[in-house]
Amino acid sequence: MTNILQLKKQLRKTIASKLTSKEIREAIRDHHARRKPRPCGMTIHTGIGCSLRCTYCYIEDMGFNWIAKPYPLTGLQLVYALLYNPYFVPGEYGTLIAMGSVTEPFLGVTREKTFEYIEAIATYLKNPIQFSTKMYLTRRDAYRLKQLDPGISPLITIVTIRYKDKLEPLAPPPEKRFETIKNLRSKGLKPILFLRPIIPGIIEEEYVEILEKARDSGAVGVVVGSLRVTNRILDRLRKAGLDIGEIIRRLPRKPRGNEQVPINTRDLKEEIIRYARKIGLVAFPEACMANIYTHGRICWKMIHHKIVVPGVEPPQISIDELKKIAEENNVVLKKATRKKYFIKMLLEGDRISKALFSEYVKCRFGYCVKILRSK
Ligand code: SF4
Repeated sequence: MTNILQLKKQLRKTIASKLTSKEIREAIRDHHARRKPRPCGMTIHTGIGCSLRCTYCYIEDMGFNWIAKPYPLTGLQLVYALLYNPYFVPGEYGTLIAMGSVTEPFLGVTREKTFEYIEAIATYLKNPIQFSTKMYLTRRDAYRLKQLDPGISPLITIVTIRYKDKLEPLAPPPEKRFETIKNLRSKGLKPILFLRPIIPGIIEEEYVEILEKARDSGAVGVVVGSLRVTNRILDRLRKAGLDIGEIIRRLPRKPRGNEQVPINTRDLKEEIIRYARKIGLVAFPEACMANIYTHGRICWKMIHHKIVVPGVEPPQISIDELKKIAEENNVVLKKATRKKYFIKMLLEGDRISKALFSEYVKCRFGYCVKILRSK
């Protein structure tokens, strides 16, 4: 079925039959029912706040605090909220799910909620799920995850070995995280090293060791991502006794207020990606690619970055077929052009129908989508 609204309505009916009216109202009021997916997918909060207090963390600047609490919705309510969200596409080829952006999803207080959400999404929606963590996951945890979503995309964060006490004082030691990678791999999952944020002045002397240890522990790949700083983060890094000269040198401008400014690390990223490839890791410049990869799929941008999933190509679609799907979803596709990994589309329809159709095209056919404005 390519009538997405119809599919969402049917699924909502199924879930609503398992919820009380009060639970439905709570789900509809929740921001998971309203937020637009980010480029990495729909970020799902399994908790609010985080007790690990990493020195480079930006959640405080986003209004969250250092006390973690499980998210108030049940798994079924979360599913209902997502189905109510006008921008969300359900299904195996639907919106990518990312857990771990504003909390650590496997803290003592958040982990059962995380399992609950993974189970609910895998049972009723089947969207591809990814999580990032610094916590220790046992073989039993790995087995549970594998049972819920065999393609689940685990990102294991390790950004330093030597400076762990200054950068991540309350997180488990990197050695336990390498063990997590081993445990996940032993149950047939595809763990990926999450080398984000790369911290200039530190990463240069550490990336070889981190990549090699991750590879030897069973990581299949690495996601490399940049550091973003706020004034508060710069202060914390300084107070932790780190030399931030290299960060300042690469800072394009001073942050204003709580603003997050990305540090220019393109050259470092390229160097790390080159070395990762040399030692046999799949290097992903973006986290969404790792989610697609572990679910046995590929997008056009991954092909552009020479990432291979043996025997797999993105689904092909003609513009005429795309026009028919657009019509079924209350949108008129006036014009579409494809270039490299992009599809540029001129659409007619209301704002939300256009956004939902774009999300569908991105997820189903593996394109980065640009919407053209009519002149
Ligand atoms: S684990 Fe993640 S969310 Fe928690 S403090 Fe560290 S960076 Fe922030």
